[in-house]
Amino acid sequence: MTATILLIEDNEKNRYLATFILEKRGYRVVQAEDGHLGLELARQINPDLILLDIQLPGMDGYTVARHISGDPLLAHIPIVAVTSYAMPGDRESVLAAGCRGYIEKPINPATFVGEVERHLPPHLRPEGAQSP
Ligand code: MN
Repeated sequence: MTATILLIEDNEKNRYLATFILEKRGYRVVQAEDGHLGLELARQINPDLILLDIQLPGMDGYTVARHISGDPLLAHIPIVAVTSYAMPGDRESVLAAGCRGYIEKPINPATFVGEVERHLPPHLRPEGAQSP
């Protein structure tokens, strides 16, 4: 079984790159361009993992993470923040909001999948895939 990953990211280029890398690996990616849509989709599709941009228009990533981790139906889903280096809001605030981990932007195509898969159990990784 291959995981479904919900990608909440407002920047089109970042969405494209992350989706390209993850789909090439065999994941199903569902995109949301803002936090409200992200929350709605999380409830609809019950993804296996959520990649969450922190700087989002309207509802920021911290708020999205708090909503997800505070919702009994969603709290089991690992959230991994993807956010720019040297942005206000450090690793501790990201973790305090309910994220399990943190990937720095710009994402590194060579290491991105490995960083994501650290938060996915082996049975949810694509069949035959080796972690880089
Ligand atoms: Mn953003």
